[in-house]
Amino acid sequence: GIAIVNDKTFVNESVYGRTVINRAFENILGRTKEELAGVRWPDITHPEDLEADLEKFNQFKAGIIRDYSMEKRFIRPDGSSVWTKMRVGRLAAGDSDNSLHLCLLEDISESKAISDILKESERSKTVLLSNLPGMAYRCDFDPSWTMHFISEGCYNLTGYRPESLIGNKEVAFNDIISPEYRENLWNEWKRVVEEKLPFKCEYEIKTADGKRKWVLEMGQGVYDEQGNVVALEGIDLDISDRKEMEDKLRHYNDHDSLTGLLRRHCLIERLERDNTKKRALVGVNLSTVQSLNATCGFQYTQDLIKRIAGLLKQECNKSRELFKIYEAQFAYLITDYKEIEELNDFCIGVVQRLEAVLTLERIGGGIGVLEVPQQGRFDANELIKKLMVVSERAFGPDSYNYNIGILFYDKQTEEQISREEEIRQTLLRISETDTDGELYLQYQPIYDLKSMKITGFEALARIRTEKLGMVSPAEFIHIAEETKLIVPVGYKIIRMALGFLRRLEMSGYDDINVAVNISAIQLLMPDFTSNLLQIANEMRVNPANIGIELTETIFVSDFDEINRIISELRARSIQVAIDDFGIGYSTLAREHELQVDHLKIDKYFIDKLKADCPKNVMTADIISMAHKLGHCVVAEGVEQCEQIKHLYEYGCDKVQGYLISRPQDENAALELLEKELEITGYCNSCLREGMTTWAR
Ligand code: C2E
Ligand code: CA
Ligand code: CA
Repeated sequence: GIAIVNDKTFVNESVYGRTVINRAFENILGRTKEELAGVRWPDITHPEDLEADLEKFNQFKAGIIRDYSMEKRFIRPDGSSVWTKMRVGRLAAGDSDNSLHLCLLEDISESKAISDILKESERSKTVLLSNLPGMAYRCDFDPSWTMHFISEGCYNLTGYRPESLIGNKEVAFNDIISPEYRENLWNEWKRVVEEKLPFKCEYEIKTADGKRKWVLEMGQGVYDEQGNVVALEGIDLDISDRKEMEDKLRHYNDHDSLTGLLRRHCLIERLERDNTKKRALVGVNLSTVQSLNATCGFQYTQDLIKRIAGLLKQECNKSRELFKIYEAQFAYLITDYKEIEELNDFCIGVVQRLEAVLTLERIGGGIGVLEVPQQGRFDANELIKKLMVVSERAFGPDSYNYNIGILFYDKQTEEQISREEEIRQTLLRISETDTDGELYLQYQPIYDLKSMKITGFEALARIRTEKLGMVSPAEFIHIAEETKLIVPVGYKIIRMALGFLRRLEMSGYDDINVAVNISAIQLLMPDFTSNLLQIANEMRVNPANIGIELTETIFVSDFDEINRIISELRARSIQVAIDDFGIGYSTLAREHELQVDHLKIDKYFIDKLKADCPKNVMTADIISMAHKLGHCVVAEGVEQCEQIKHLYEYGCDKVQGYLISRPQDENAALELLEKELEITGYCNSCLREGMTTWAR
């Protein structure tokens, strides 16, 4: 656009003719000649550009400058502005008054808009790069990762200035990458470039001052038209904080919060990771600690577990790692051992460490040892289960008396474990139906030394199955107790025993006693007495002929409660005997409080009376003490005539044992009664002769 301007007004007509404002000028400013004639140019100049324009214009007017040009905006009638490149110059050379001048306009709004966008994009890129928690780069796809561009963030991330990396000037990026990742990164880039995929990888770098940092790199290849890679572009972000957080979380997840020990899943990982080395597991099972919960409280138990863990840790080193498997169950993973004896020594060391605290707390435990299979696949979870089972089995018989047993897992233990499992299944079957008669009873006579007659039988439970053969109560009773199946199974036993009693009564023996062994768990169940009486009622037997045998050790659990139940039973004229008397010691002190009919002296003391043992006065003392307290005394496990002789002398009331008869099936037991001591015992004649002589 061209126009002639008179000072601050547009000239519509002049000495130079009418067309002093051309069409393009009108178009740019959006006004006709006529309209332009009515305005001054400062009025339609964008206020932000006006000052600069006026300054130059005044210099121009004053003749200081010959002409000037600038980029400025005009305001159109609709209020919008238009960017122009304006040149102002003299109309004619030598025009001294300079009242008229020439104004040339070029509409530059379009290129102005583009440059604005570019500027904005540059600006935002700068903002982005300067705020990146890391750096952006463009590099060659070569083993040094030769850099062409690196953003300023490089310094913060790596400690190197971008300039020192560009073109590998001082250091190549590959040297910053921690060596163990270099090969992987190269292979991964190769893979993604080949398939034109985006790249994403986490790795560690070593900064200028030798620190390690975790970075997350994300990028992609830049390809030419033929699809060849010409560069790689991307960013490296500092993720050390995140990694640290992840590490913390993992640590939290892997460690037991109470003891700080690694947890079970870590042991499984370790076991599965490497099965080429010789390794063994040593399980330390102190589940008895839980028994203190009731007496000492939860917090006390927790503190104790923590203390024990502390002791166990002292046995740790590089090749003896400790894990916590469950509440008070621990496991060492042992590597680097040669002989199995080494494991045994290790276990003894552990026992010695624990001895003091366990003695003080009066608890015991078990240590199980299991060698990890070196070849083939194995289920680590199963292995730990087996370990816990052997460690449980390692419990000594008096595990509540601070002793720890040690047991190695071998073929035999494995068979035993599976046999126990089978027994458990059998007991469950029996408790539900037992249509096959797998559970049955045998009866062992109790012989009265005064009347020289059988006065009762003890019912002894047996299990026989096709798979297991004969199972003695010594084997299955404790399993039944552990699984609480002793309650339903116990009632079955009571029914059978009372069935036999009914048969005796029907056969005319109305004062023969049948005694049943009752476990503490069953005795302490509510309603035991009334249930027993109800069964007696149903079976129409005389309660006075029913006997109950309770082992002495059950009084440990709750002396007063058990004594109360005993009184209840005796009030209904049921006979109560204390079994295995003398070995538990626990009741001796309160012996006089025991409201029982019989004391059955344990076989241990009766064995002392054997021919090859020196005479033992203690047995005599027990008998006389029991008599003083008004109990009837039964000697258990009598096997030799010699023993009976002594017992007779000491005034023992009754005897029971193989010498009289082994436990018999119902029919055979009944026969014993009928034949009046024409019994199967191998010492029958000797006994009879003896009796008559002693009686005399
Ligand atoms: P216990 O009550 O002390 O029973 C006596 C055990 O000694 C029986 O073993 C019996 O067969 C055995 N015995 C008897 N006389 C002699 C002998 O002269 N020499 C030897 N060496 N042993 C003799 P059994 O039948 O194996 O029972 C073992 C234990 O199992 C019993 O000891 C009892 O505590 C428990 N038991 C048996 N039946 C039941 C039951 O129905 N319920 C409960 N809860 N426990 C039972
Ligand atoms: Ca018994
Ligand atoms: Ca006994």
